Amino acid sequence: MTQDTKPNFDVDKIKSKKNAKVAIKKLSDVIHHYNYRYYVLDSPVITDSEYDNLLLQLQALEERYPDLKKTTSPTQQVGGEPREELGLVTHPIPMVSLKTVYDEAVVRSFDETCQSELGLSEVEYVAELKFDGLAVELVYENGNLIVASTRGDGTTGENVTANIRTIKEVPLVLMSHEDMPPPDSLVVRGEVYMSYARFNELNKKREEEGESRFANPRNAAAGSIRQLDSTVTAKRTLQIFLYGVAEASGYSFKTQWEALHTLPKWGFKVNTAQARICKGIDDTLDYHREVDEKRDDLPYEIDGVVFKVNSIADQERLGMRARDPRWAIAYKFKARQATTQLLDITVQVGRTGRLTPVAELATVNIGGVEVSRASLHNFSEIERKDIRIGDTVVVERAGDVIPQVAGPIEAKRTGSENVFKMPKSCPICGGKVSITSDKRLATCMNSSCPAQIRRSITHFVARGGMNIEGFGHKRVEQIIDAGLITSFASIYFLTVDKLSGLERFGERSAQGLVDEIAKSKDQPFHRLLFGLGIPLVGSQTAKVLAREFGSMEKLMEVQLLELLKVDTIGPEVAQSIVQFFADENVRNTISELALAGLTMTAEKESSTEQTFSGMTFVFTGTLTKLNRNEAASLVEKMGGKSSSSVSKKTTYVIAGLGAGSKLKKAQQLGVTVLTEDEFAELVKTLG
Ligand code: NAD
Repeated sequence: MTQDTKPNFDVDKIKSKKNAKVAIKKLSDVIHHYNYRYYVLDSPVITDSEYDNLLLQLQALEERYPDLKKTTSPTQQVGGEPREELGLVTHPIPMVSLKTVYDEAVVRSFDETCQSELGLSEVEYVAELKFDGLAVELVYENGNLIVASTRGDGTTGENVTANIRTIKEVPLVLMSHEDMPPPDSLVVRGEVYMSYARFNELNKKREEEGESRFANPRNAAAGSIRQLDSTVTAKRTLQIFLYGVAEASGYSFKTQWEALHTLPKWGFKVNTAQARICKGIDDTLDYHREVDEKRDDLPYEIDGVVFKVNSIADQERLGMRARDPRWAIAYKFKARQATTQLLDITVQVGRTGRLTPVAELATVNIGGVEVSRASLHNFSEIERKDIRIGDTVVVERAGDVIPQVAGPIEAKRTGSENVFKMPKSCPICGGKVSITSDKRLATCMNSSCPAQIRRSITHFVARGGMNIEGFGHKRVEQIIDAGLITSFASIYFLTVDKLSGLERFGERSAQGLVDEIAKSKDQPFHRLLFGLGIPLVGSQTAKVLAREFGSMEKLMEVQLLELLKVDTIGPEVAQSIVQFFADENVRNTISELALAGLTMTAEKESSTEQTFSGMTFVFTGTLTKLNRNEAASLVEKMGGKSSSSVSKKTTYVIAGLGAGSKLKKAQQLGVTVLTEDEFAELVKTLG
């Protein structure tokens, strides 16, 4: 099974523990993969309702076989690994998720549990909109915004302070209020989102500039807040709604309602207008229905409503589970669906040569969005669902991610429908297609297939790679179609003369692009390594390779065993690297790029003494005097390594404000812990 294919079990039919074990393993593996796509890459490959369904299957099996439930199960985890490049922040109190349900009966049983555990005949809830964006935490000290972070894995989030500061609705200094002075120390939580209007505008602009579209407002908001460059975030015009207080020194709110209504007094934006006190479960269900009806009138995306027990004392009595509180529930809306005609099935070829079937649909409006194409995921899915060209199909925009074909309406068949045949040759180059026996993966075997070249070049010039400004995929396609580039190296032989003959290219824009291309020759070596598209090598591994091996010359001759000696490189990645550099085409490409004058060696760092050589540093908690990225790169410049996890091999842990589990682990393992000042002293002494 590949990682992008969904396991499909009828969990009710699983009767033996042995089968349950296999199913739990498969479900956990794919859910971990989907979490990575969604939380880390902001690029989901399945709809939310499909994802929720997989998680529910796993939960059901784990409930039936509790001893098969692992602490590492996705049912026990919140979100995904935070991105280290942004700097990490330990949350003073864990940021958990919400139990998500689609079914009224489950909401009722949630209410019954609350009633019986609290000994109440009617529970009072606060009903709120469930905004579909990215959860963030804002920490204020003495009225000033000190640090802002994403939820990350619930314990540790990403430091996005500079980006959050660009959101005009976020008070950088708390407003004072006569009756309720702002607390000295305040931790609040909310959702950063992008309005539909802004989202559509942004996508239009991206298309014009030849960049890829964001799939939905949630991805756009998440991608914008998790930027390394806050000037990019500033241009995205994000917004925020606050919905919770985790800590407010000197205040002890009695209810969620009181907390929600206090935040605006300190300058926060809270959607109090749409929140409501509901007495008992029927009231909350009415709220859900009402909001569902008017959700299309809202200027931003919501994916459900949230019910929270209003009394904070009762919340404390009910307590928490591993990944969500027992006093709240998210009741999501049903997937948005529509029926339409499947006109054709076309086949796309990706950068790695993978063939993906795409449904070409008679345009249909689903919840305000025009849909004319939808994902079919893979060929076995078409067979399994028995989708035929000409069928009337149900298309859904569940969770508003990627529209997809849920299935055919067989009753509407006329007999003129055609069964789709898997292509035996690549629809782009006619090359041979290799198909796995389960029909889930079809790959074009021709490495010089134009479709693959297009995508490889787009990847090569994109932000993580050579980062050539103004060279989005539309421009790449235009220039390839004009026959001006055929390989990575040919990019470096483009001239103003050649470009200015093309449509939409004036002399100025041609000159601009040629200048940007020339500038990219000086990009650091690790970016070139990433841009080459070595299978399984992401930007982090590219950096490790550049640091450990220093030059292209060395990497081209590297042996498997040498790669395996590097901590963070596993056997699969090592194998892939060796195979990549052994390929004659790759070697020719590299020679051409060297001739074009690209940087083929890592920066020399010998000007700084390598006094941290062999040492590993972990930064944890909120650093107030140091910039974490700068501190980590200083460590690297001095020959050391900076890591995100504490182990026996860690030399020093530098603990900032609110350091939690990593500090504890360091103490347990006897690793030396330094304050920020002590670290600065160490740099001074040794540097
Ligand atoms: P969630 O989005 O279902 O619910 C928790 C989040 O709701 C909170 O963290 C907060 O950000 C948000 N929220 C919005 N309004 C709120 C309010 N008024 N009060 C409190 N919280 C509010 O949970 P999650 O853990 O962020 O994500 C899980 C969901 O994400 C899944 O149910 C799934 O739908 C989706 N997901 C999809 C994929 C995929 O591949 N499609 C992968 C992973 C997760």
